[in-house]
Amino acid sequence: MLDKVKLKETDLIVTLLSEGGRQIRAVAKGARKPGSRLAVRCELFCTADLLLARGRNLDIVSQAELLAAPLGAAPTYERMCAASAVAEVAKLCSFEDAEDPFVFAITERALALCGDDACDAVHLDVIVAAYIFKLLSHTGYRPDLFSCVLCGDAALSYFSASAGGLLCASCASSVPGAEEVSPANVGWLRSLLALRFDELMGTPIDAMQATYLLALAHLWAATHLDARLRALEFMLGR
Ligand SMILES: [Zn+2]
Repeated sequence: MLDKVKLKETDLIVTLLSEGGRQIRAVAKGARKPGSRLAVRCELFCTADLLLARGRNLDIVSQAELLAAPLGAAPTYERMCAASAVAEVAKLCSFEDAEDPFVFAITERALALCGDDACDAVHLDVIVAAYIFKLLSHTGYRPDLFSCVLCGDAALSYFSASAGGLLCASCASSVPGAEEVSPANVGWLRSLLALRFDELMGTPIDAMQATYLLALAHLWAATHLDARLRALEFMLGR
Protein backbone atom coordinates (compact mmCIF):
# COMPACT_ATOMS: atom_id res chain seq x y z
CA MET A 1 0.00 0.00 0.00
CA LEU A 2 1.83 3.11 -1.24
CA ASP A 3 -0.66 5.90 -1.06
CA LYS A 4 -4.27 6.71 -0.28
CA VAL A 5 -6.43 9.69 -1.08
CA LYS A 6 -9.93 10.51 0.05
CA LEU A 7 -12.79 9.85 -2.29
CA LYS A 8 -16.21 11.17 -1.33
CA GLU A 9 -17.13 10.98 2.34
CA THR A 10 -16.28 7.43 3.29
CA ASP A 11 -14.21 5.99 0.45
CA LEU A 12 -10.50 5.91 -0.38
CA ILE A 13 -8.53 5.56 -3.57
CA VAL A 14 -5.53 3.40 -2.72
CA THR A 15 -2.37 3.03 -4.75
CA LEU A 16 -0.93 -0.46 -4.47
CA LEU A 17 2.14 -2.28 -5.61
CA SER A 18 1.27 -5.81 -6.72
CA GLU A 19 3.57 -8.71 -5.93
CA GLY A 20 4.57 -8.62 -9.58
CA GLY A 21 5.57 -4.97 -9.21
CA ARG A 22 2.67 -3.48 -11.13
CA GLN A 23 1.08 -0.31 -9.79
CA ILE A 24 -2.65 -0.62 -9.17
CA ARG A 25 -5.14 2.05 -8.14
CA ALA A 26 -8.36 0.84 -6.60
CA VAL A 27 -11.33 2.15 -4.65
CA ALA A 28 -11.79 0.98 -1.06
CA LYS A 29 -15.45 1.68 -0.39
CA GLY A 30 -16.34 2.63 3.15
CA ALA A 31 -12.71 2.48 4.25
CA ARG A 32 -12.98 5.83 6.01
CA LYS A 33 -16.03 4.89 8.06
CA PRO A 34 -15.20 4.62 11.76
CA GLY A 35 -14.67 0.99 12.67
CA SER A 36 -14.52 -0.11 9.05
CA ARG A 37 -12.89 -3.50 8.73
CA LEU A 38 -11.36 -2.40 5.45
CA ALA A 39 -9.69 0.61 7.11
CA VAL A 40 -7.15 -1.36 9.14
CA ARG A 41 -6.42 -3.57 6.16
CA CYS A 42 -5.80 -0.66 3.83
CA GLU A 43 -3.22 1.00 6.06
CA LEU A 44 -0.28 2.76 4.43
CA PHE A 45 2.92 0.74 3.94
CA CYS A 46 1.26 -2.55 4.87
CA THR A 47 1.30 -5.76 2.86
CA ALA A 48 -2.19 -7.14 2.25
CA ASP A 49 -3.86 -9.88 0.31
CA LEU A 50 -6.59 -8.16 -1.68
CA LEU A 51 -9.43 -9.34 -3.82
CA LEU A 52 -10.19 -6.77 -6.49
CA ALA A 53 -13.43 -6.54 -8.44
CA ARG A 54 -13.43 -4.84 -11.79
CA GLY A 55 -15.10 -1.46 -11.61
CA ARG A 56 -16.11 1.00 -14.29
CA ASN A 57 -12.94 3.07 -14.04
CA LEU A 58 -10.92 1.77 -11.13
CA ASP A 59 -10.96 -1.66 -9.56
CA ILE A 60 -12.77 -2.05 -6.25
CA VAL A 61 -11.29 -3.67 -3.16
CA SER A 62 -13.87 -6.30 -2.28
CA GLN A 63 -11.87 -8.23 0.33
CA ALA A 64 -8.67 -7.55 2.19
CA GLU A 65 -6.51 -9.55 4.54
CA LEU A 66 -3.65 -7.84 6.30
CA LEU A 67 -0.40 -9.80 5.99
CA ALA A 68 2.12 -7.40 7.52
CA ALA A 69 2.02 -3.90 8.97
CA PRO A 70 5.73 -3.08 9.24
CA LEU A 71 5.36 0.21 11.10
CA GLY A 72 3.13 -1.24 13.81
CA ALA A 73 0.32 0.58 15.55
CA ALA A 74 2.21 3.63 16.84
CA PRO A 75 5.19 4.39 14.61
CA THR A 76 7.60 7.20 15.51
CA TYR A 77 7.67 10.35 13.44
CA GLU A 78 11.09 9.42 11.95
CA ARG A 79 9.86 5.99 10.87
CA MET A 80 6.73 7.48 9.24
CA CYS A 81 8.89 10.00 7.35
CA ALA A 82 11.27 7.30 6.10
CA ALA A 83 8.45 4.96 5.01
CA SER A 84 6.71 7.85 3.23
CA ALA A 85 9.90 8.59 1.31
CA VAL A 86 10.23 4.93 0.27
CA ALA A 87 6.59 4.78 -0.85
CA GLU A 88 6.96 8.00 -2.82
CA VAL A 89 9.89 6.66 -4.81
CA ALA A 90 8.18 3.27 -5.31
CA LYS A 91 5.18 5.04 -6.77
CA LEU A 92 7.37 6.82 -9.30
CA CYS A 93 9.24 3.62 -10.21
CA SER A 94 6.19 1.40 -10.81
CA PHE A 95 3.68 1.47 -13.63
CA GLU A 96 0.18 0.23 -14.39
CA ASP A 97 1.28 -1.58 -17.51
CA ALA A 98 4.64 -3.06 -16.49
CA GLU A 99 5.51 -5.96 -14.21
CA ASP A 100 8.77 -5.85 -12.24
CA PRO A 101 8.90 -8.17 -9.22
CA PHE A 102 12.17 -6.58 -8.04
CA VAL A 103 10.32 -3.34 -7.28
CA PHE A 104 7.92 -5.14 -4.95
CA ALA A 105 10.64 -7.17 -3.24
CA ILE A 106 12.98 -4.27 -2.50
CA THR A 107 10.14 -1.95 -1.47
CA GLU A 108 8.64 -4.49 0.93
CA ARG A 109 12.10 -5.06 2.47
CA ALA A 110 12.85 -1.34 2.81
CA LEU A 111 9.47 -0.67 4.45
CA ALA A 112 10.04 -3.55 6.85
CA LEU A 113 13.35 -2.00 7.91
CA CYS A 114 11.71 1.41 8.37
CA GLY A 115 9.65 -0.23 11.10
CA ASP A 116 12.41 -2.43 12.52
CA ASP A 117 13.65 -1.43 15.98
CA ALA A 118 17.09 -2.69 14.96
CA CYS A 119 17.25 0.22 12.50
CA ASP A 120 18.11 3.39 14.44
CA ALA A 121 17.28 6.92 13.26
CA VAL A 122 20.68 7.42 11.63
CA HIS A 123 20.43 4.17 9.70
CA LEU A 124 16.94 5.09 8.48
CA ASP A 125 18.70 7.71 6.34
CA VAL A 126 21.17 5.09 5.10
CA ILE A 127 18.43 2.57 4.26
CA VAL A 128 16.33 5.11 2.34
CA ALA A 129 19.43 6.37 0.47
CA ALA A 130 20.44 2.79 -0.40
CA TYR A 131 16.88 1.96 -1.45
CA ILE A 132 16.85 4.90 -3.86
CA PHE A 133 20.23 4.15 -5.42
CA LYS A 134 19.50 0.42 -5.68
CA LEU A 135 16.03 0.84 -7.17
CA LEU A 136 17.02 3.56 -9.63
CA SER A 137 20.05 1.52 -10.69
CA HIS A 138 17.71 -1.36 -11.40
CA THR A 139 15.41 0.84 -13.48
CA GLY A 140 18.29 2.13 -15.60
CA TYR A 141 19.81 5.02 -13.66
CA ARG A 142 22.95 3.50 -12.19
CA PRO A 143 25.48 6.10 -11.06
CA ASP A 144 29.03 5.70 -12.32
CA LEU A 145 31.04 5.43 -9.09
CA PHE A 146 34.36 3.93 -10.17
CA SER A 147 35.71 6.26 -12.84
CA CYS A 148 35.05 9.84 -13.86
CA VAL A 149 31.85 10.00 -15.90
CA LEU A 150 33.50 12.35 -18.40
CA CYS A 151 37.16 11.27 -18.74
CA GLY A 152 37.47 7.89 -17.01
CA ASP A 153 40.02 9.10 -14.43
CA ALA A 154 40.07 7.05 -11.21
CA ALA A 155 40.66 10.04 -8.88
CA LEU A 156 37.11 10.97 -7.91
CA SER A 157 36.13 13.89 -5.76
CA TYR A 158 32.86 15.33 -7.12
CA PHE A 159 29.30 14.10 -7.61
CA SER A 160 26.86 15.30 -10.21
CA ALA A 161 23.42 13.75 -10.66
CA SER A 162 22.92 15.32 -14.07
CA ALA A 163 26.35 14.14 -15.31
CA GLY A 164 25.59 10.61 -14.08
CA GLY A 165 27.81 9.96 -11.08
CA LEU A 166 31.29 10.80 -9.83
CA LEU A 167 33.75 13.15 -11.50
CA CYS A 168 37.42 14.05 -11.22
CA ALA A 169 38.23 17.57 -10.02
CA SER A 170 39.22 18.93 -13.43
CA CYS A 171 36.08 17.68 -15.23
CA ALA A 172 33.90 18.86 -12.31
CA SER A 173 35.02 22.44 -12.91
CA SER A 174 33.04 22.41 -16.16
CA VAL A 175 29.89 20.80 -14.64
CA PRO A 176 27.53 23.30 -13.00
CA GLY A 177 26.31 22.17 -9.60
CA ALA A 178 28.90 19.39 -9.18
CA GLU A 179 29.26 18.74 -5.49
CA GLU A 180 32.58 17.97 -3.76
CA VAL A 181 32.53 14.54 -2.08
CA SER A 182 35.02 13.32 0.52
CA PRO A 183 36.86 10.02 -0.06
CA ALA A 184 34.88 8.53 2.84
CA ASN A 185 31.61 9.43 1.13
CA VAL A 186 32.83 8.07 -2.20
CA GLY A 187 33.31 4.79 -0.32
CA TRP A 188 29.87 5.05 1.23
CA LEU A 189 28.19 5.70 -2.13
CA ARG A 190 29.75 2.49 -3.45
CA SER A 191 28.63 0.64 -0.32
CA LEU A 192 25.03 1.80 -0.73
CA LEU A 193 24.93 -0.09 -4.01
CA ALA A 194 27.22 -2.99 -3.19
CA LEU A 195 26.09 -3.96 0.32
CA ARG A 196 22.85 -5.58 1.37
CA PHE A 197 20.48 -3.68 3.65
CA ASP A 198 21.48 -5.93 6.58
CA GLU A 199 25.16 -5.19 6.03
CA LEU A 200 24.49 -1.45 5.82
CA MET A 201 22.52 -1.56 9.07
CA GLY A 202 25.49 -3.17 10.78
CA THR A 203 27.97 -0.54 9.60
CA PRO A 204 28.45 2.43 11.96
CA ILE A 205 28.00 5.89 10.45
CA ASP A 206 27.59 9.34 11.98
CA ALA A 207 24.35 11.27 11.60
CA MET A 208 25.75 14.04 9.40
CA GLN A 209 27.27 11.60 6.95
CA ALA A 210 24.04 9.59 6.74
CA THR A 211 22.01 12.73 6.05
CA TYR A 212 24.53 13.77 3.41
CA LEU A 213 24.14 10.42 1.61
CA LEU A 214 20.36 10.83 1.75
CA ALA A 215 20.73 14.31 0.22
CA LEU A 216 22.76 12.84 -2.67
CA ALA A 217 20.12 10.11 -3.14
CA HIS A 218 17.44 12.79 -3.22
CA LEU A 219 19.38 14.72 -5.86
CA TRP A 220 19.80 11.54 -7.90
CA ALA A 221 16.10 10.61 -7.72
CA ALA A 222 14.74 14.12 -8.31
CA THR A 223 17.02 14.52 -11.35
CA HIS A 224 16.39 11.16 -12.99
CA LEU A 225 12.72 10.72 -12.10
CA ASP A 226 12.23 14.37 -13.00
CA ALA A 227 9.88 14.84 -10.08
CA ARG A 228 9.57 16.80 -6.89
CA LEU A 229 9.90 14.36 -3.99
CA ARG A 230 8.04 15.99 -1.15
CA ALA A 231 8.27 13.18 1.41
CA LEU A 232 12.01 12.95 0.83
CA GLU A 233 12.40 16.74 1.10
CA PHE A 234 10.47 16.56 4.33
CA MET A 235 12.71 13.81 5.66
CA LEU A 236 15.82 15.86 4.83
CA GLY A 237 14.41 19.03 6.33
CA ARG A 238 13.24 17.64 9.63
ZN1 LIG B 1 37.32 13.58 -15.42
